[in-house]
Amino acid sequence: MTEKKRNDVNYKLAKWWEPQPNDKILCTLCPRYCKIGNNQKGFCYIRENIDNKLYSTSYGRTTGFAVDPIEKKPLSHFLPGTNVLSFGTAGCNLGCKFCQNWSISKSKIDEIKSLDASPEQVVDLAKKYKTPSIAYTYNDPTIFGEYVIDISKIAREENIKNVMVTAGYIDREARKDVYKYIDAANVDLKAFTETFYHKLTFSHLSDILDTLIWIKNETDVWLEITTLLIPEENDSADEVKQLSNWIVNNLGENVPLHFTAFHPDFKMKDKQRTPSSTLNMARDLAISEGINYCYVGNVHNIEGQTTYCASCNEPVIIRDWHSVLDIRLDGNKCKSCGESISGVFE
Ligand code: SF4
Repeated sequence: MTEKKRNDVNYKLAKWWEPQPNDKILCTLCPRYCKIGNNQKGFCYIRENIDNKLYSTSYGRTTGFAVDPIEKKPLSHFLPGTNVLSFGTAGCNLGCKFCQNWSISKSKIDEIKSLDASPEQVVDLAKKYKTPSIAYTYNDPTIFGEYVIDISKIAREENIKNVMVTAGYIDREARKDVYKYIDAANVDLKAFTETFYHKLTFSHLSDILDTLIWIKNETDVWLEITTLLIPEENDSADEVKQLSNWIVNNLGENVPLHFTAFHPDFKMKDKQRTPSSTLNMARDLAISEGINYCYVGNVHNIEGQTTYCASCNEPVIIRDWHSVLDIRLDGNKCKSCGESISGVFE
């Protein structure tokens, strides 16, 4: 059985691990640092110790592809109005009780319908569907970092951009490898209290803040942030203000922030859907704290989904949900006043 697994094309020797005493392996890909016994898997289900070596068990194995609008990631300042080839694998390195994608993130790869695709085949699909970018999404791409690196390297050679949609729970050394060919990232900032992160995600706020600062200040990756607002868990005016204020002070006023609506799911079916009034309140507060580009998501709200010039306040990209209705930019400049809009527009 072990030999069979080792020879399986979907089992790839992992990049980030250290041997430990007693046949254990320390996985150093994310700050969970699982110690994994022989023939055991880590918390994320897809990294396995086989005879004292760590393998990624979902290399080249996806849960399917979709061609999505880039606005669905959500990214509002990265190639607006274009499509992105999107896929994920199975498993996740967080344990969010409110997961909106749990049929994938909580599955073991053997239990879910999957589709094999080599890195070359993924890039060929992007070419076939003429998408200018590929998104690693649906479950957290951190846990299939080896696959991300191999695809994104080929994609870059073909002039196709690469997008991470992630919770940002990744080790400081491993992230330098995983993000080497990444062009844009949407990172969840799921709340602004350690209590929330500890209780509802089984991870830690400080690790996510560290990743956000690293992406913004030490890479060329275009960064946007998403906060899913959950009634009575992370939607107080105080928390929204603190979160927005931290972004302005640590990442700058031009990092777009998306407040999205929660729907009852997974282990939090007892909660209400986020009311539109809460999304609007959060957006107004974030703007008053100094965020230049703030959006609401998972609802129809043209005003809350439109990009306004930070200088003259004229609309420059008008949207409804994931549809771009009009773009009033010359390159990256506002057509009304000529001010530059932050982002990647061509
Ligand atoms: S990537 Fe998976 S196995 Fe590795 S430390 Fe994180 S949760 Fe554990």
